[in-house]
Amino acid sequence: PVRVRFCPSPTGNPHVGLVRTALFNWAFARHHGGTLVFRIEDTDAARDSEESYEQLLDAMRWLGLDWDEGPGTGGPHAPYRQSERMDIYADVARRLEEAGYAYKCYCSTEELDARRNEARAAGRPSGYDGKCRALTQEEIAAYRAEERTPVVRFRMPDEPITFTDLVRGELTFTPENVPDFGIVRANGAPLYTLVNPVDDALMEITHVLRGEDLLSSTPRQIALYRALAEIGVGNGTVPQFGHLPYVMGEGNKKLSKRDPQSSLNLYRERGFLPEGLLNYLSLLGWSLAEDRDVFSMEEMVAAFDIADVNANPARFDLKKCEAINATHLRALRADEFADRLLPFLFPEEEPTAEQLELLARAAPLTQERMVVLGEVTGMLGFLFVAPDEFRVDEADAAKVLTPEARPVLEASVEVLRDLRQFTPEPIQAALRTALVDGLGIKPKHAFTPLRVAVTGRRVSPPLFESMELLGHDETMRRLTAALE
Ligand code: GLU
Repeated sequence: PVRVRFCPSPTGNPHVGLVRTALFNWAFARHHGGTLVFRIEDTDAARDSEESYEQLLDAMRWLGLDWDEGPGTGGPHAPYRQSERMDIYADVARRLEEAGYAYKCYCSTEELDARRNEARAAGRPSGYDGKCRALTQEEIAAYRAEERTPVVRFRMPDEPITFTDLVRGELTFTPENVPDFGIVRANGAPLYTLVNPVDDALMEITHVLRGEDLLSSTPRQIALYRALAEIGVGNGTVPQFGHLPYVMGEGNKKLSKRDPQSSLNLYRERGFLPEGLLNYLSLLGWSLAEDRDVFSMEEMVAAFDIADVNANPARFDLKKCEAINATHLRALRADEFADRLLPFLFPEEEPTAEQLELLARAAPLTQERMVVLGEVTGMLGFLFVAPDEFRVDEADAAKVLTPEARPVLEASVEVLRDLRQFTPEPIQAALRTALVDGLGIKPKHAFTPLRVAVTGRRVSPPLFESMELLGHDETMRRLTAALE
């Protein structure tokens, strides 16, 4: 059975690269009817935070990327927060050492630095040189007498490590390029290099799908896996690895966590649909079909094959991300679209039944005009503000509600005042007669001041429909107010 894991460290805010990794693991698990393990790699107390942990869970829930084992869900390998598994790592480190797969290294940072610089200058590989690999009892006693506190290092095998990457094909790492590496700090804290493979082994992970930036840790992880199998940790299978391509941002540089474009919260706040964002992120290294960019997560799951993932860097394109989101927005059923608007229109108070009814009528006017849900506050906000809180956009007012607009507003007030049937057709007919025929103004110039006066902005749903929704009294009030 397929068992994959999504195992972020809770540092900072979730970003799109992380979501792409989560998505590919999720789609792989679902495609194969396997298990997605959600594990929190929080062994670095200095960098991890509870807030970030909560954000990760919240992000996964919002995205709809459900997990089978992990926080809140539990499972046979609980706990799923590494900070609660410290005893396990201490025990495994001790057993690795006893079996000779790891050793204590007493080299100080200064000594390591000095030797590294020397090696560099001489053009030799600059990784750890194996000095403490085979210390005698006397050497150890001497270091102890100096009160040196050792780190624990893993002893890399002397043969090359070859594996078949699910995305990149066969890869070989030679020993010179993968020196012995630390697995436990001098203060006893276990490192990522240890805890990540130990948990993968114990949680019986079959496939590791993660970013290309972690490719260099894979040979170490495979060696460690083999050692764990020897000492009886886990069930002995080495997972298969697939490294997902880099995501490039502006200027063909790697999209970084610090890039504002990469923050998941930003997309949520702007009102991307989770399915729209996931659809776009799935295209960062994968595609459903050459001629289809827009699809549902069900379709992705049905088609997802890790062998189809492209090894070349993928470019993050915000415009395309928005376009795909807009397509998903348009495809929503009208009532569902209206539902999704609620948190944006009514962030604090629950809407009244009347407001809900108004929204049901108004939402279809904007569905075709929006890219993200957040635009609705600008688009439909004018319908839901209390009369005394309505304000026209200052910049738009300065541009449009000029002295030249006065006759337009005056004539409109005049002609609409007694209009009995306040619906789009009669409104339009009346205004056309008064403004276009009567005053000889081009429709565009005639209607823009009305739009700003009534909806508060130059970009709004269709004008006559907006007036109808707002009702006769409030429309008249706003037109008159614009004349003051
Ligand atoms: N906690 C690691 C990270 O967030 C996980 C890497 C991995 O998938 O092995 O980078």
